[in-house]
Amino acid sequence: MMPPFELIADHRCLCGEGPLWDNRNKQLYWIDIVRGAINCYSPETGQLQHVNTDQKIGAIGLAESGTIIAALKSGIFQVDLSTGTMVHVLELEPDKPQNRCNDGKCDPAGRFWIGTMSDEGETGQGSLYTLEKDGTFSKKLGGLSISNGLAWDLGNKKFYHIDTPTRQIVAYDYCNESGRISNGIPVVEIAEAEGVPDGMTIDTAGKLWVAHWNGGRVSRWDPGTSKKLQELFLPVSKVTSCTFGGDHMDDLYVTTARIGLSEEEIGNQPLAGATFVFRKIGVQGFPGTRIKNDHYITPYEI
Ligand code: CA
Repeated sequence: MMPPFELIADHRCLCGEGPLWDNRNKQLYWIDIVRGAINCYSPETGQLQHVNTDQKIGAIGLAESGTIIAALKSGIFQVDLSTGTMVHVLELEPDKPQNRCNDGKCDPAGRFWIGTMSDEGETGQGSLYTLEKDGTFSKKLGGLSISNGLAWDLGNKKFYHIDTPTRQIVAYDYCNESGRISNGIPVVEIAEAEGVPDGMTIDTAGKLWVAHWNGGRVSRWDPGTSKKLQELFLPVSKVTSCTFGGDHMDDLYVTTARIGLSEEEIGNQPLAGATFVFRKIGVQGFPGTRIKNDHYITPYEI
């Protein structure tokens, strides 16, 4: 039987992450955290493009202007993929040089949310921040270990977040106008035998799709009932994140990693680090919002 997934390009990341569908240009972006690479793939032409940022990268977001906002080890940058130009927008945590950016996303109002974590494995050193539309910057959560899995549900006014070692998805009340979150309640817990929750996306029915690091799958959950609804298995253990894309937003793209695998494990999982797509899975995601970045530009670049 044919596997239910296809490979995207003949490419392996050390730590593939942050898949992001560009609805305007019909392209898929994803990053390689360890190599500091931004990858861009066109399903229509089959062309794969890489830009190297020369430092660890945690997340990217697409801006209204057409540039990319990249969360790197040394802070937030604005990247022009066509020229490779990078402009430093701000330093996130100058008092925590051991930290780096981790998962981040643009919310439905156009704000960029970005989590941090210790790059040396210390627990509780990370936070979750928001880069507001006017260029100001605010802290949403503190005391996090590995900030991951951002998703917003405008219908139910919820924001979902994962601090990976807790194995939980926490639902917060969310105000799209102000970006305020409150009243966090765990709604899903991943069983120990199924790895730990990493990246996450949401479908138009308000159900959550979660990547299982060391769990070899993506699972779909109803956050209202805390019930698992579906699982999609992959031939690799370290599944990092997922997002919807394609002409009808019903293809599920999934990133994976090969970092930390032994030679024997890589022999058994030759596709580790590849990006996969499950086509036409019967549910749709939301086309992503673009970052309203007009106020980000610092005077330094002129
Ligand atoms: Ca992640």
